[in-house]
Amino acid sequence: MTTSVHGIHHVTCIAGDAQENLNFYVGVMGMRLVKKSVNQDAPDTYHFFYADAAGTPGTDLTFFPWPQMAPGRLGTGLTVEVALAVPAGSLPYWQARLNAHGVVCGEVELRFGESTLPFRDPHGLALALVETSDERPFVPWLQSPVPPEHQVRGMHAVRLWERRLEITEALLTGRMGFTLLGAEGGWQRYGVDGGGSGKLIDLRAMPGERPGTWGTGSVHHVAWRVRDTAEEMALAGTLAGAGLQPTSQIDRFWFKSVYFREPGGTLFELATDGPGFDRDEDKEHLGESLILPPWLEQHRRAIEAALPPLVMPRR
Ligand code: ZN
Repeated sequence: MTTSVHGIHHVTCIAGDAQENLNFYVGVMGMRLVKKSVNQDAPDTYHFFYADAAGTPGTDLTFFPWPQMAPGRLGTGLTVEVALAVPAGSLPYWQARLNAHGVVCGEVELRFGESTLPFRDPHGLALALVETSDERPFVPWLQSPVPPEHQVRGMHAVRLWERRLEITEALLTGRMGFTLLGAEGGWQRYGVDGGGSGKLIDLRAMPGERPGTWGTGSVHHVAWRVRDTAEEMALAGTLAGAGLQPTSQIDRFWFKSVYFREPGGTLFELATDGPGFDRDEDKEHLGESLILPPWLEQHRRAIEAALPPLVMPRR
């Protein structure tokens, strides 16, 4: 049986101060906080999920704010940049907007034919905005400070450094359904389900580099879309057959997850498209209150007392 993922489900990163993270992703990037929860493995820290208005799979960038952590170090076996999709023609708007908020941007560059604006978030996370005309499922957020025609459409691509590119390439193309789309400037680009925005991963061989380390401003893991449990477990079986060590299925309540390290060391996740973020909150009020998975609800009072208070950025 051939197995395949279907693009990026979400990317999870480590931030510094929670309020600064919220101010940037809602107040500047104009993304919707669709879920305010806690790290299920460390419930004294938040877990923020930023996405389009509906939390459509593939639009979701999530953060653990861990201000006490040291900054991460770029290196191999780590995702070194997250590219976000914006509509074609939007980059001048975004350059002006980011500059007005004191964000220093790099030069606009062409990557695989797409105009790309690299910059960093307030805690050092490497981001890029990429113009694309690819059709993607997207629900505009009408309360966003960014008008719908310029809003972030979702995750576009991730970029990883690898000590030995071939072993990760073999996994991507042999087990996860990717094909090599091209090479440019030292990067190899792979796409799944025909490629296109949200279905891309770029690898760069960096044989002399040290392994990267997690810390503030770094990517924690990349989650790949699978349709349902059947597809997830088939893929997990395939990964185990390749000598990797996928976890058993973990219920993240809004989706079901399997984690594994790709052979180069980067933490990957498989995540089901459903049930989705509106499972426990009305669509109109996503992200407004602290949501705990049912098994943590009995500890709500202690969990809330340990979390820093937050002020939602005003439009
Ligand atoms: Zn995840």
